[in-house]
Amino acid sequence: MSIWYNHVRAGIRLHALVDNFRLIRARAANPAPIIKSDAYGHGLPQVARALFEAGARTLAAGTVGEAAVLKDTVPEAEVISLLGPLDAADYECVCERDIVAFVGSTEQLLLLEEAAGRVGTTVRVALKFDTGMARLGFDAVEAAGVADTLDGLEHVRATMVCSHLATADDPEQAGYAREQGEKFERIVGTLHARGLDVRASLANSGAIFGHPGLHHDLQRPGIALYGGNPFFGTAWEEKGRGLRQAMQVSSRLVQVRTIAAGQSVSYGRTFTAPAGMRVGIVAVGYADNYSRGLSAKAQMLLHGRRVPVLGRVCMQLTAVDLTGVPEAAVGDEVFLLGGAGPQSISADELAAWWGTITYEVFCLLGQNPRTYVD
Ligand SMILES: *Cc1c(COP(=O)(O)O)cnc(C)c1O
Repeated sequence: MSIWYNHVRAGIRLHALVDNFRLIRARAANPAPIIKSDAYGHGLPQVARALFEAGARTLAAGTVGEAAVLKDTVPEAEVISLLGPLDAADYECVCERDIVAFVGSTEQLLLLEEAAGRVGTTVRVALKFDTGMARLGFDAVEAAGVADTLDGLEHVRATMVCSHLATADDPEQAGYAREQGEKFERIVGTLHARGLDVRASLANSGAIFGHPGLHHDLQRPGIALYGGNPFFGTAWEEKGRGLRQAMQVSSRLVQVRTIAAGQSVSYGRTFTAPAGMRVGIVAVGYADNYSRGLSAKAQMLLHGRRVPVLGRVCMQLTAVDLTGVPEAAVGDEVFLLGGAGPQSISADELAAWWGTITYEVFCLLGQNPRTYVD
């Protein structure tokens, strides 16, 4: 939570999250929940505790700073930092707090050796290889060299080998995921042949539901935990069925007014009433991470019915068309995401109006004040 100045509330259903974790565990033997970026906006401590109670014993955060908070929250869990150490404080923290850091360069290995020596411990690392994202990690061809480097280190022990898939959620690019899988298998083979006792991990949510052949020892579900079907809108949509959205977001109606035909609404006069109509003003805007890009595109939910956004989204206010909801009154709760009944607004729908993906919807709206609904 980082937005403190508004009436917006993000309601989080931890039960839905735990149900999603169970559904994932029915498909994948050893899922390690990904709770980076404040658990995709759902709240790191709350989500970590709920999933640990549900049986998760390995959990992954983003930065080392986040991983330290995660370790404070669930001290008995194995805690991973997906981004790995960046500065001196990070190297120290990883060694002192027994955090399993993703490491993708020889320099990081050498700096960890130094830090662990100073702290007087052996630090465990997850070797990160690039197999097709061109983002973080050793190159695939470096596997033998990495094993050589590790042979010379006293205080660093590899406990995992990992890579990340670029297209696991796209059935039309399943071939690329399989290619990455083959590259990864060769890396794992090289490391095992060198006697390294490393657990292999490649699968994100898309691969958990769509590529059972890529599961390896440990799986890394993110979006599926929060109820996002990785295959929404694709031919594989059925494979991700049964996941439940854990976040809903609402604000309040602060004014109800009647306008005459020809009157315009909001900045720039992009909407003009074709006839007399009732308009509601909702206390939410782009300062609450409800993007201005939703202007004239999105819908909200009021008394179980859809109300379209009229004209431009402002900094803290948005106008909606109340034609379908004559009983609307100041103070009523209006849902931007979720809400009860068959007209409930799904994250996929909101993401489509927004021109983005559910990941960004959750991360951004989750920065509003949160309540835990069950
Ligand atoms: C975010 C992340 C995941 C989770 O991906 P989803 O698509 O949300 O399941 C897995 N692995 C790494 C390295 C990540 O950064």
